[in-house]
Amino acid sequence: MSECIFCKIVAGEIPSGKVYEDDEVLAFHDIHPFARVHFLIIPKVHIATLADCTPAHEGLLGRMLLLAPRLAKEQGLDAGFKTLINTGRGGGQEVFHIHVHVFGGGDPVPRT
Ligand code: AMP
Ligand code: ZN
Repeated sequence: MSECIFCKIVAGEIPSGKVYEDDEVLAFHDIHPFARVHFLIIPKVHIATLADCTPAHEGLLGRMLLLAPRLAKEQGLDAGFKTLINTGRGGGQEVFHIHVHVFGGGDPVPRT
């Protein structure tokens, strides 16, 4: 069984505040939000980092990115939002299952 916490969320073994799900992608609220709205978009398949992606992942990455504005709007971020992908330890990545942070709302969020 995978030790990856996000794979466990995909498998339903750990609860999450689901924002969106389809056959390839899941989005859920970040457990430690740094803005009024803060959710993560992840692929259901385990890919550790953006640096591990190959041309075979082009479509999947495109789907994830295109979901960001759509889900942000659904979450009430009408004035805009930030996206963030941390890659590798030097990039501040803590969970090694690729994810796109989408956040905004409330006070201006820090420039990360
Ligand atoms: P990163 O530093 O880009 O790897 O960010 C990992 C993010 O995952 C952090 O913002 C965490 O708050 C978030 N996170 C970790 N565990 C969970 C969880 N079980 N449910 C939701 N978000 C989580
Ligand atoms: Zn995983």
